[in-house]
Amino acid sequence: MFDYHLHSNFSADCDTPMEATIEQAIKAGLKEICFTEHIDYEYPDPTIDFDLDLLNYDKKLHQVRARYGDQIQIKKGVELGLQPHQVGDYSALMDKEAFDFVICSMHTADKKDLHSGNFFANKTIEEAYRQYYEELLYCVTHFKQYSVLGHLDLVKRYTKEQSEHDFHDIIGEIFKIIIADGKGIELNTSGFRYGLESGMPSPDILKLYKACGGEIITLGSDSHVASTVAYQFQESLELLESLGFQYITTFKNQKPTFHSISSFK
Ligand SMILES: [Zn+2]
Ligand SMILES: [Zn+2]
Repeated sequence: MFDYHLHSNFSADCDTPMEATIEQAIKAGLKEICFTEHIDYEYPDPTIDFDLDLLNYDKKLHQVRARYGDQIQIKKGVELGLQPHQVGDYSALMDKEAFDFVICSMHTADKKDLHSGNFFANKTIEEAYRQYYEELLYCVTHFKQYSVLGHLDLVKRYTKEQSEHDFHDIIGEIFKIIIADGKGIELNTSGFRYGLESGMPSPDILKLYKACGGEIITLGSDSHVASTVAYQFQESLELLESLGFQYITTFKNQKPTFHSISSFK
C-alpha cells in the first residue's frame, strides 16, 4: 500500500520529523510513501507562513532515501494551496522545480482561510460551498501543473450543517476538465479524524468522478503525526472497489503508475 499525502516538519503546521513517519510507514508494511509538504502563498492567517525550504527539503529526501531506501520508496511531493489570483505564480514555481507528485488543494476561498471561519461569515452554506467550487473550477481551468486535486470537498469540514445541494453540476464541470487533462483526485482519509462521516471527497462525489470516466486516484492520510499514517486505508480500498474503481495510482516525475486494488487484499 502507498500513502500519498504526508506532512513532516518541513510544513509550517507540522512538527513531526520525517524519520518518525517513515519508520511508522515501514512498520505498517507500506511499500511507498510520498511527502507532500505545504506551499500556500499569501495564506490569509499572517501568524503562519506556509513557505517551503526547497533546497533543504531535497537534501533531506536524499538523506532518508539513503537510510531507508532498501525498506521503502520515498517520493518527493508538494501540496499547493491554490488561490485563483495566484495561478501564474504557481505555474512559474512548477516550471523551475521538479516533484514526483503535486497535490492541487484549496485551503482558502474569497482570499479568506476556511480554518478560522472568516470565509463563512455573512454567507449561507449554499453561497459558501458554491463560491468554493467556483474558485476550484477557475483554478483547474487555468493551472495545469499538478497530479491530483486534494481533499476536493474540504469546504464541508468547516460547517456543522451540510448543504442540501450536492453541487454535482459544478463538480462535474471540474471533473470534465481534470480528466481531459490527465489529472486525478485523491481520497483523503483525514475526513474521518475531523468528524466527517467519510473521507474527502464523500462517496457521492467519488461516484460522480467514476461516472465521468475518472480513473486516477491516490490514497492519502494527510498525516501531520506519525500515528495516523495509512489511517482507514483498508476501509477506503473496500469503498473504492465497491464504487467500481480498479486501481490506486502512484507517481514518479508526475507520471502515473496504476496498481490493481485487488492485489492489496
Ligand atoms: Zn490540505
Ligand atoms: Zn495536507
